[in-house]
Amino acid sequence: MSNNSPIEWFDDFIGIAYRYFEIRMTVTPLFDDRKEAAKLWRETIHWWNDHSIKIRFVEIDDNYWFIMGAESRETKNIRFLFKVLPKSSYYERFKKGHDGSAYLRFGTYSRKSKKEVKDDAICDCKHRKDDHEEGEYDECLVKDCDCKKFETFQLNLLKKKKTVTDIKFLTEDQIKDDVLAWNCFSVNIYNKKQESDVE
Ligand SMILES: [Zn+2]
Ligand SMILES: [Zn+2]
Repeated sequence: MSNNSPIEWFDDFIGIAYRYFEIRMTVTPLFDDRKEAAKLWRETIHWWNDHSIKIRFVEIDDNYWFIMGAESRETKNIRFLFKVLPKSSYYERFKKGHDGSAYLRFGTYSRKSKKEVKDDAICDCKHRKDDHEEGEYDECLVKDCDCKKFETFQLNLLKKKKTVTDIKFLTEDQIKDDVLAWNCFSVNIYNKKQESDVE
C-alpha cells in the first residue's frame, strides 16, 4: 500500500452479496449497472495482485464496514472500496463459514417483475411465483402470508474472479493496528469529524 498515487475511496455500489457457489464463498460487491461494474473491474480490480488483496470487516453496533484494497500493478485509477452496511444473516454466515479465503466477483442486482421470471422464482416473501395470485393483484396465496405483490431480485455475477486470502474481522479498537482499515477510517470518518470540529 506504499503507493504515492492518491487513493480514491469508492463507495458507489449497492451492497455486498455473500454466496457459496464453489469450494470457497464468494464476496460480491453489487452494482445497478453492469457496464459500470465491468469498467471498475477493468480499470482497477484487474490490476490488483491477488495475494495482496485485503478485506477488512469492522463491526460497529448493528452495522459493519466493508473495506477492500490491494497493491496495484497500474498507477492510474487506484481505488479502494468501502461501504457501511447493516449486518445481515448472509454476512453472519460468511463470517462463520469463510475459512480464511473467498472469491471476489462483481455482480448486478436487479428487481424483476412477475412477467420476467419463471414459475419457481422466489418472492421477497420467500414463496414461489406460482403461490401468488395471477393477474394485476398478485398477492401471495400462502396461508398467513401478508405479501401483497410479487417481487424478486435477481443476482447476476460477472465472470471475472480473484481469490482473496487476507480477510480479517476487526473491532473499532483494533483498526489502529491495521493499515488498510485505519486509512479508510481516517479518510472517511476521523478527518471529516475534525474538519467539522474546527468549524
Ligand atoms: Zn410474495
Ligand atoms: Zn408469500
